[in-house]
Amino acid sequence: MMQAIVLLGAPGAGKGTIAEGIKAATAFVHVSTGDMLRAAVKAGRPVGLEAKSYMEKGELVPDAVIVKIVTERLDQGGPDAQYMFDGFPRTLEQARMLDEVLVEHRGRIEHVFLLDVARDVLVDRLAGRRVCRSCGAVYHVRNIPPKKAGVCDACGGALYQRPDDTEETVLNRLEVFKRQTQSLIEYYERRGVLARINAGQKREVTQADILAILGKPTVGR
Ligand code: AMP
Repeated sequence: MMQAIVLLGAPGAGKGTIAEGIKAATAFVHVSTGDMLRAAVKAGRPVGLEAKSYMEKGELVPDAVIVKIVTERLDQGGPDAQYMFDGFPRTLEQARMLDEVLVEHRGRIEHVFLLDVARDVLVDRLAGRRVCRSCGAVYHVRNIPPKKAGVCDACGGALYQRPDDTEETVLNRLEVFKRQTQSLIEYYERRGVLARINAGQKREVTQADILAILGKPTVGR
């Protein structure tokens, strides 16, 4: 049976960072639509060309494009795959599509983790975020600094600032989250699968809170 968990939260809530920690401790495969789109843009693939202008403005890429890349990705997994979605779904339409795909694969959503973070913390995290151009590892100039400035600890790649992490785009992305994604909170709350997580804490603590709900308590807590 296919299993899915969803990391839901505003840009800067720490979805990608937390996903890496959860991935290391579980069998969940990390599926980030943002990472998939950035890879498509970099490779110059048609979906990338379609998505690029929306991403630059901080707007959502049309549902049809997202549905296509996610369906392709899920078709590659086996019948018992365990998926951790990061940055998907972002609209009710995408959530409904995910439900349909899961029904087809006899799967279901086990948990939706809502990563709750105060707005000023979100803005600070996005402004200071740096990403490795080669492996995608995520840093923050102050909170998660690399050992050597501008260089990835994991692979030695060059760190860069995502073009959509500039101030103007960040504010728009937060607005878009409020306008288009927040309705999902209610959608999943009604279904009884929503867990609110305080993601303003240290990364390890947030991760441990999620792992405890997944039945994998962290030693020492
Ligand atoms: P992220 O890396 O999740 O912050 O996504 C970066 C950008 O990719 C977003 O601002 C959107 O333009 C686009 N994007 C990623 N995931 C989705 C999605 N599920 N639906 C629509 N647009 C998305």
